[in-house]
Amino acid sequence: DERRILQYQITLYGDDERLVMARDITRLHRLEQMRRDFVANVSHELRTPLTVLSGYLETYGDLKEMLPPRLSKGIGQMEEQTKRMQSLVNDLLLLSRLEIDRGGEDHQPLEVGSMLESIRRDALALSNQQHSVQVALECEARLVGSEQELRSAISNLAFNAVRYTPEGSQITLRWVALSNGSACIEVDDDGEGIDPVHIPRLTERFYRVDKGRSTATGGTGLGLAIVKHVLLRHDAQLQVESLPGEGALFRCVFPPSRVVNS
Ligand code: ADP
Repeated sequence: DERRILQYQITLYGDDERLVMARDITRLHRLEQMRRDFVANVSHELRTPLTVLSGYLETYGDLKEMLPPRLSKGIGQMEEQTKRMQSLVNDLLLLSRLEIDRGGEDHQPLEVGSMLESIRRDALALSNQQHSVQVALECEARLVGSEQELRSAISNLAFNAVRYTPEGSQITLRWVALSNGSACIEVDDDGEGIDPVHIPRLTERFYRVDKGRSTATGGTGLGLAIVKHVLLRHDAQLQVESLPGEGALFRCVFPPSRVVNS
């Protein structure tokens, strides 16, 4: 008498007829859970060896000048690839955590302005001050949520805006009140944009418009999947507007229940 998980589909015909279909998805659910646990465990187990590797590489890095050029170049590449693996493992861990528990324990009203200001500084540092990054506050309300999660979601959007736009581009982080009591955080750039055919798939893990290009920019391929999960946990929605050559606009729309006027 183990618990089963059923999925119902109800179709209405006219006023008084309905068709109810039930599907047993217990097995599917269990498989999905196993997949999540597996990813979480593997990511966790990979952390320790990576920390050890990067520790040694740091020590060797200090000796680079004394080594023949071929060796020191190799160490440089190992450092780079180890960092990439570490970001990948960190993003995988974060994503599994977001999928496994429901969250909500650390939700509180946040000052969006100061959060966007600090993300602006990080984005500028990533771009080596080669982009113009601005914050526009068009809403005075506070946002109820997890500061840590929202910061990582909006940072991902801002870092993408830096990575997928040429130097000199203009990026704006905006907090905007909408007419029905909801509000949104927008990340807007005037870079290369995205062909609309790709937009519905952007939040899939490892989905990339241009595979070669994205690997070179240092992304993990998980950024927008993280954004999507963080927003789901905040009852919010991600909207993407873009055309090739005309920049991209990522909009996170929060419902009125998440927006408090102080
Ligand atoms: P990645 O690590 O590849 O950046 P993401 O999930 O963050 O992974 O993004 C998925 C893909 O969406 C990217 O590979 C890129 O092709 C596209 N993309 C994301 N943000 C932008 C943007 N601001 N402008 C153009 N393309 C973007």
